[in-house]
Amino acid sequence: MSWVAIAGSESFRAISPSEFFYRNRELAGFSNPARALYQTVRELTENALDATDAHGILPDIKITIDRTDEEQESIYMVSVEDNGIGIPPHYVPQAFGMVLFSSKYTLRQTRGMFGLGAKMVVLYGQITVGKPVEVITSPIKSSRIYSFKLLIDIKNNEPIVLERSSWQKNSPWHGTIVKVYILGDWQRSKSKIVEYIRRTHVIAPYASIFFRDPDGNIYIFRRATELIPKPPKETKPHPVGVDLEMMKMMLASTRRRTLLEFLENDFQGVGRVTAERILELAGLRGDRSPKRLSQSEIEKLVSVIKEFNEFRRPSADHLSPIGEEILKIGLSNMFKPEFVDAVTRKPTSYSGHAVIVEAGIAYGGRVPLANDPTEILLLRFANKIPLLYDESSDVSFKVISSIDWKDYEIEFPAPLAVLVHVCSTKVPYRGVGKESIADVPEIEAEIRNGVREVARRLRSYLSKKKREEEIARRAYSIVKYIPEISRSLSAIVADGSSKNIEEKLIYLARAKLGVNINSVNDVVINIE
Ligand code: ADP
Ligand code: MG
Repeated sequence: MSWVAIAGSESFRAISPSEFFYRNRELAGFSNPARALYQTVRELTENALDATDAHGILPDIKITIDRTDEEQESIYMVSVEDNGIGIPPHYVPQAFGMVLFSSKYTLRQTRGMFGLGAKMVVLYGQITVGKPVEVITSPIKSSRIYSFKLLIDIKNNEPIVLERSSWQKNSPWHGTIVKVYILGDWQRSKSKIVEYIRRTHVIAPYASIFFRDPDGNIYIFRRATELIPKPPKETKPHPVGVDLEMMKMMLASTRRRTLLEFLENDFQGVGRVTAERILELAGLRGDRSPKRLSQSEIEKLVSVIKEFNEFRRPSADHLSPIGEEILKIGLSNMFKPEFVDAVTRKPTSYSGHAVIVEAGIAYGGRVPLANDPTEILLLRFANKIPLLYDESSDVSFKVISSIDWKDYEIEFPAPLAVLVHVCSTKVPYRGVGKESIADVPEIEAEIRNGVREVARRLRSYLSKKKREEEIARRAYSIVKYIPEISRSLSAIVADGSSKNIEEKLIYLARAKLGVNINSVNDVVINIE
């Protein structure tokens, strides 16, 4: 039978995570040389920022891209340097040479989350150019600087360290420099890369970013404020987000001696009373050892938790939103707008994860004109990362384009930019390339409310401006006749020179029309 023959000829084997991403690199954003250059800058910059602001350090980031020949699709050297916490030397090989190795698998709001970025950069460089990645790092309390050159053993998902050295440091420098050689296409990625760095500076105006492009142009984004968001903290899982497998892992690894202690201490939102109620509902004694539960007892525990709806909602004090002040500084710095405002919404949650949404608006100044709601300049951010691709599949785009902007006194074409920042210990990205956020109803509602809140403030500003313009226009229509009336009156009034009469009439106009004018010329200027 033919199916037997086919089945018999199949050969089975498993591949390593490195091999998987080597075969499917477009999943992580490395689909062509242009996109790969952009993604490389992005992944390295995000690691640099995670190593600084998330630890309360004002970031100093230096990004350089150098072309090594004159072809369009050519080999580029990308280097990113930071003044962050550095990497402990014994972790460097795995951090850069083992796919899915990360220090960010805790419940903490970070830019990185998949343990993939740096390794995709190394893998892609290795496939296209073949040169090793160079990592120079000095951890914050170390007296030495460590240097590595490494590649990835794709079959076994292991680092291959080609060179390793270290030396005493004679300066207080701490941080990391990563240098890679990749096949890239600057011409086709230029605008996205520059835009990415600009937007990074909108959300992190407390960073100082230096960028030198392959044409030798230098972009300096100066630190616009010393204010820095409160760093994120690690948190414990909320019971609502814990499924059967996670419960098993938590029970197996807990250091608590009893089930009661386990429930009370290893979760957020569970106090003594709640823990006791859950155990009672699950028919389990509190003094049992967490390691000795049967499969059916664990199932029962999880199903009781699923149905229990009296937990405190996930707390958000471990999250790190940017804050209204810094958002306004970031937007003003980029657009010099005539109006700017921002709001940090109260926390909400989805599937056991706390979420904070922030929204901002910049109007006028250097904001480009949008002809309709789909053209509004939308600045999307997730955990402080700018999202540039896949705009139309992002939940923020859906919200912005469905708002009726006439309700907010906006008439298109309008110089309107909207910023949306979603922060959470788990952002529901649509893919590992982290480019757009899925439409989770709770997040969508928060975005809508946040944007409406700032839009209402913009409306107050615009209606006030409109009223003032209206008053000035009315005043002008009257005041412009003053010189003529004054001249006519001076001819018939015995003692009045035209000048005197004009002054009196201006005085009257000021009092009656409520406009601030000193001479007829003022009105003309104001109106224009
Ligand atoms: P992720 O950022 O998702 O954790 P990466 O592959 O980008 O995955 O990075 C792996 C790990 O390497 C990080 O979790 C971090 O601990 C470490 N790392 C990478 N770059 C830096 C850096 N510039 N400074 C400090 N640590 C870094
Ligand atoms: Mg990363």
